[in-house]
Amino acid sequence: MKKIKDKKIYPLAKPYIGKDEEKLVLEVLRSGVLSMGGKTDIFEKEFAQFADTKYACAVSSGTAGLHMALIAAGIGPGDEVITTPFSFIASANSILYVGARPVFVEIDPLTYNIDANKIEAAITAKTKAILPVHIFGQAADMDLIMKLARKYKLKVIEDACESLGATRNGKKVGTFGDMAVVAFYPNKQMTTGEGGMVITNSKEYYEMCVSLRNQGRPYSSSFWHSKGGSWLTHARLGYNYRMDEMSAAVGIAQIRKIKFLIDERIKIANLYSKALKGLENILQIPMVGENNMHTWFLYVVLIKAGKIKRDQLIARLGERGISTKPYLPSIHLAQFYKKLYGFKLGDFEISESVSNTALALPIYIGLTEKDIKYICEQLVLLI
Ligand SMILES: *Cc1c(COP(=O)(O)O)cnc(C)c1O
Repeated sequence: MKKIKDKKIYPLAKPYIGKDEEKLVLEVLRSGVLSMGGKTDIFEKEFAQFADTKYACAVSSGTAGLHMALIAAGIGPGDEVITTPFSFIASANSILYVGARPVFVEIDPLTYNIDANKIEAAITAKTKAILPVHIFGQAADMDLIMKLARKYKLKVIEDACESLGATRNGKKVGTFGDMAVVAFYPNKQMTTGEGGMVITNSKEYYEMCVSLRNQGRPYSSSFWHSKGGSWLTHARLGYNYRMDEMSAAVGIAQIRKIKFLIDERIKIANLYSKALKGLENILQIPMVGENNMHTWFLYVVLIKAGKIKRDQLIARLGERGISTKPYLPSIHLAQFYKKLYGFKLGDFEISESVSNTALALPIYIGLTEKDIKYICEQLVLLI
């Protein structure tokens, strides 16, 4: 661990990489097959097994996966997709990529997920899909969302990029909707460097995604290995959203220890909640729904009161070696969303209020109880 003036440095996030990752990546490098090889196949199969879905299609990023899922679901110009303003911007951007319109619905003030009770009022004749985001590691209210989807015949694409392994009533995120997307950027529960996965139980969506990620080449179950005659045949407008073999190799090593990776995050989150207990007058600590298992992409507190502003607090904690971040800004207030749709301050007050007070604390494997006590002490001292 790096030190400044004898002080430990706490990054916000850090991947957990070991010998298994090194060995598998080296195997790929020495094999000379750096793309479209057997490692991607293995990674997809093992990932689908963990995710409880029939199919998994590895892609170059979570954002690429969301884009493909929307295309595969048939969403396009003139369509509306209901989603949350409180998310990483990629979830709403993917709706813009296909020429559709994101329709934001206010969030729940305790879980920060889309408030499913407010979705029905936002449904119009143009609504084609709901894109819920399981925020920070906790499932959205999928029972109600799926009920509405059935009633109005809407597609559901789950953005599970922050919530790998999370469950609701024992059922994993990514198994509720038509398709779901998981991301493997280095700050997520598991990583491949850059990377993502589209998961689904639908053969049709799966085959469409396999084609879309590979320049629109027609789907073939043996294609990945035998580059054969269809290499220059393109059935549709496709993309290069393939995952490379080095990333897949890292992914295999990571998915094989996913239970450990998630369990450790849960332990750290519980230590934070213990250390911050009794401070409800100044902090809102994360709420885990009764039916949910949270897998802690981030541990986010809301600063409810105190003598300094949230952004000053971030600077002060930084001086003490503690990295924190204001996760997340509300998407509707991003410059180009305001310009495109005329959004303004006050349109989604709960989302904005969470955006203005949220503080993500360091979370990564290796943080000890002592570290967490120190981080919390410094936080409380400064507030
Ligand atoms: C990380 C993330 C993504 C995108 O993943 P990338 O792999 O970085 O493209 C999408 N949605 C949410 C909510 C995320 O947190």
